[in-house]
Amino acid sequence: MPLTLDPGKVSADPKLITLTFVWPQEPWNPTSLFKHIVYLCETAGYIHNIANVHIIDLSVTQMLKKEISNLFKKSDYVCIPLEAYTVRNAVKLKNLIKQTSDAKVVVYGTIVPMNPELFAEHFDIVISTGHWYRAIKKLVQEPEEFNKYLHEGIYCKAEPMTPEEWTLPPQEIMPMKHYLKVAPTQYDIGVQIGCTFNCSFCAEKALIPESVIYSRPPEQIRDFIKNNPEDAIYYINATTFTQDREWAKQVCELLSELNPLRKWRTVTRIDRIDQEIIGLMKKSGCYKIGFGIETLSKPLQRSIRKSYDESKLKESLLMVKDSGIIPRCFLILGLPGQTAEDVHYTQQFIEDLDIEYRWKEYVPFQKISQIKTLEEFELFERTDYFGYEIPGLSKEEYIRLLSVER
Ligand code: SF4
Repeated sequence: MPLTLDPGKVSADPKLITLTFVWPQEPWNPTSLFKHIVYLCETAGYIHNIANVHIIDLSVTQMLKKEISNLFKKSDYVCIPLEAYTVRNAVKLKNLIKQTSDAKVVVYGTIVPMNPELFAEHFDIVISTGHWYRAIKKLVQEPEEFNKYLHEGIYCKAEPMTPEEWTLPPQEIMPMKHYLKVAPTQYDIGVQIGCTFNCSFCAEKALIPESVIYSRPPEQIRDFIKNNPEDAIYYINATTFTQDREWAKQVCELLSELNPLRKWRTVTRIDRIDQEIIGLMKKSGCYKIGFGIETLSKPLQRSIRKSYDESKLKESLLMVKDSGIIPRCFLILGLPGQTAEDVHYTQQFIEDLDIEYRWKEYVPFQKISQIKTLEEFELFERTDYFGYEIPGLSKEEYIRLLSVER
C-alpha cells in the first residue's frame, strides 16, 4: 500500500533519525563501483551530519541475516538505490525489512522516475527525481514539507543541490575495505549530474530532464584527491567532463597544483574537446579519457541523437593520443536497426587508429515505463545477454565482442 508520511511519527530531533542505505545483492560481483560510490555512499554522505547513517553494500559484503535485521530494527528508514538489475533483490530485502522492523523503505535511483507508480505499489516512499539527495534530506529535516509533495507514496519535487551542498564520499562509514578489494587502487568521486545533450539510450535524462549540468565545486575535487593516497588512480565520474568548459579548466588548474601530480581519468564527449582543454587535462594528471562513440552508422547516429563527423572524430582521437592521454571508445552493441556491417565498420575504424575500445550491450530502458510487474525486471539481470538479433552477426560473435576489451 502506498503510504502517506505521518510527520508526528518523525522525531523532532533529526539527529535521532536513523537511515540505513543498502545496495542490494547483484547477480555477479560488480566490476565498476561508481554507482555504488555516487548513488549509495554520496547520498548517505549528504545527510551524514544530520542523522545516524549506516551504509551496507550487499554486492561486496556478506552479512548474516541476523546482523542485517538488527540494523533494520534500529532504522527509521531503509533507503535502497534501484537499478534495473537489482529490483528483484530489492524486493527480497523489502520483505525482510517488513518482517523484522518498522522501518519505512525508500527507493530512488536511475530507473525509479521511469515507472514510479509501479514502485509505489511495492515500496513505502518512491523518490521520483534525480535530485534525490535533496529529497532525502527534506524527509529527514522537514518531514511536513516533504509530505506536501508526497502523493500516493511518490515524491517528485525536483530541487537541485546548490554547489556548496555537494558532499564528499563519507569514507569513514563506507565499506572501504571491500571496495578496495574490487578496485584496489581506484577512488571514485561523482562530480556532475545532468547533461545538456539528449542521447536516446541514456538514462541521465530520465533522472534530470532539465537541460542543465550541475557540477561539484572544483575545490572539493582537489581536496578529495589531495586527502587520499598519492599513488591511487582517481575516477572523476562526470556526465561530460568538458561540457562546462570553464569549470573543467578550473578543475584542471587546481589538480595541476598538487604535488605530486595525481593520476586521474574521466569521460567526456569527443565533440567537446580541443587542444587547449586536452593540454590542461594532461598537465593536471589525466591519463585516460573515455568517449561514448556508440556507432558510426549515420542512420543509427540520428536515431540515438548523437552524431559525429568521421574526419573530425579521427582528428580529435588522434589529438588526444598525441597528447599522451589514452583515448578509450565506448561502442554500443544491439541498437535497434544495427547490422553486422555497421558493427564491423565502427570497430575497424577505431582499430585502424589503434585506439582502445569496448562494446557494451544496449539496454532498452524505454521498456521500463511499460513494465507491469517487478518480476519482469528479470530481463535486466546480468545473468544472460540480451542476445539481440543483429542481421549478419552470429550469437557467438555477439558474445565475443562483449567479452573482449581492447
Ligand atoms: S552526452 Fe553522455 S551523459 Fe549526455 S545524454 Fe549523451 S550519453 Fe548521456
